Amino acid sequence: MNIERSRITVSGLPVEIVRKAIKNLHLGVYPPNGRVRVAAPVRVRDEAVRLAVISRLGWIKRQRRRFHSQERQSAREYVSRESHYFLGRRYLLNVIESNGPSRVSRKGHTILELQISKRAGRLRREQILLGWYRKNLKALILPLIEKWEAKMSAKVESWGVRRMKTKWGSCNSAEQRIWLNLELAKKPVRCLEYILVHEMVHLIERHHNDQFTILMDQFLPNWRQRRDELNHAPLAHETWSY
Ligand SMILES: [Zn+2]
Repeated sequence: MNIERSRITVSGLPVEIVRKAIKNLHLGVYPPNGRVRVAAPVRVRDEAVRLAVISRLGWIKRQRRRFHSQERQSAREYVSRESHYFLGRRYLLNVIESNGPSRVSRKGHTILELQISKRAGRLRREQILLGWYRKNLKALILPLIEKWEAKMSAKVESWGVRRMKTKWGSCNSAEQRIWLNLELAKKPVRCLEYILVHEMVHLIERHHNDQFTILMDQFLPNWRQRRDELNHAPLAHETWSY
């Protein structure tokens, strides 16, 4: 299917438009940050999309507010019995107060044990856990990069892991540098690999054009499935006929 992507801004809100051979307009608000995307039939012009978005601005803002408040509600406290995710699995945190060095360890497939000083507050606990996520994520990424460098005959000059609010990854193709979102440590490895392959394909093709999609299909034929798994279902969506 021929897909054409563009971007407009409506009342200060960035809106992604994906044009393809469909009959109706679909409007979705998506994670990780309440991104707004409209899938539109090929012949529908930007102005018509703009009007459609404007007429649903109240709804979009409600979805985004709901999403951000859910995100606040799920702010972690780093106390025992709290759920934390690692590589797509849910673990229960077990906090053990000790005087020794702080550390995190996995106990089987269900418990994440955090040993930490009694005085450590929420922020310190978060720091320790994020450090553990980072170390584990980096250990997973390194062999994946080597695997895909060989498959793609491409070279990643440098890479790193950091917290990003709106993106799973980024690639500076001129400098052959890749950043991956620390949150990927919470997702299944196949999702991490999809993001890595996406960013590495940018080493060959900078833009999200047909060539990019051809390369993705060639290297990772099931990338759409992995992408959908990563982003789950949209937070909210609406369809209307045009
Ligand atoms: Zn990209």
